[in-house]
Amino acid sequence: MTPDGSASADALSAAQTAYDAIRARGLKLNMQRGQPSDADFDLSNGLLSTLGETDLSMDGIDLRNYPGGIAGLPSARRMFADYLDVKAENVIVWNNASLELQGFVLTFALLHGVRGSKGPWVAGAEKPKFIVTIPGYDRHFLLLQTLGFDLVTVDMQHDGPHVDAIERLAAEDANIKGLLFVPTYSNPGGETISAAKAQRLAALQAAAPDFTILADDAYRAHHLGTPPETVNFVTLCRDAGHPDRAFVFASTSKITLAGAGLGFVATSEDNIKWMSKYLNAQSIGPNKPEQARHVKFLGSYPGGIDGLMRDHAALIAPKFRAVGETLRAELGEEGDFATWANPQGGYFISLDTAAPVAARVVELADAAGVSLTPAGATYPDGKDPGNRNIRIAPTRPPVGEVYIAMSAVAACIRLATEEYRAGQRAQGR
Ligand code: PMP
Repeated sequence: MTPDGSASADALSAAQTAYDAIRARGLKLNMQRGQPSDADFDLSNGLLSTLGETDLSMDGIDLRNYPGGIAGLPSARRMFADYLDVKAENVIVWNNASLELQGFVLTFALLHGVRGSKGPWVAGAEKPKFIVTIPGYDRHFLLLQTLGFDLVTVDMQHDGPHVDAIERLAAEDANIKGLLFVPTYSNPGGETISAAKAQRLAALQAAAPDFTILADDAYRAHHLGTPPETVNFVTLCRDAGHPDRAFVFASTSKITLAGAGLGFVATSEDNIKWMSKYLNAQSIGPNKPEQARHVKFLGSYPGGIDGLMRDHAALIAPKFRAVGETLRAELGEEGDFATWANPQGGYFISLDTAAPVAARVVELADAAGVSLTPAGATYPDGKDPGNRNIRIAPTRPPVGEVYIAMSAVAACIRLATEEYRAGQRAQGR
């Protein structure tokens, strides 16, 4: 910066001119939610016609009638047990949305307690608490808060949740009932938990005897580079002497069809019985034709689920590259304006602005026709204390649009930062 600030004033006016030019283009681009693209969906169109009029049964079970069991079709249980690296007995395959299963486990725990609980989680003198990672997934915060939990936050680090903090918090407070987080390619930062940290969570000594780990493994197979070492919380917890501690959730929402997939959960056999008891009271069983067509479709896809995920990666990896390339070209790599993650999988790129201007960036982008995830969404109550984090979701638009949108976002970051710096100078800071 020059002593008279003229170079800075020039930088502000250049940023304003660049932004105005982008705004004048009248863009209409959406980088807001983590949705698959139509090309991703097209890979699974075959699912829609997989079952014909003569496919009336699977595993000797009539797909049209009630009987079939609460835990899902045996073939579906085998397929997704394999996916989660457990035995079929350790899996319930349910309907669309793993979030629903997360909600069920939490609700059953609130009303009845989990195995090892002294009573229902709602029965304590204080509200139950749950640990979440920040930045994190807004729907996890929404789910827990809607059910009446108080959130306790810990940082997400490059190798998974801040386990030192979790160990300390869980040891101190018996009202902390557990942890909900994304173990693989987290939302939004793309971090994957290390084997060492997973082991510590499995062995953790908590004040609550029923401390529960909810691992939302939504992006377990969503690799864009070399797959990381996968962790198995069900066996880790069993071997650490906490056999009923872990529930691992996943779904085919980002494998087949986001609006018509299958959610499933892996946990101990005793927990499967615990869940089945309550599920059975509210449903005669999950949607069997949906499960059967997933088994047939994924079973016959070249290379199975792995093959389908490779085809998704071929569509998604160029979009992630587009984000990184554009930001590097427009904002440089020194972090003067922003730093961003380079995830090796998943659905998101987490960006942090250098100045506390995330909300202003999202506002400027919106005015220029680029819709971003609301600033603050990655923190509980929508409040990012640093006002720096922005979740970029590049999967839905075609790659050409990702380049255009990110160039616009870079211009917004430049302008918001120069505005902020001008404001600081005006205040003599
Ligand atoms: N968990 C995470 C971490 C997600 O990012 C998403 C989708 N954005 C979901 C769950 C939603 O999964 P489902 O459709 O299975 O409910």
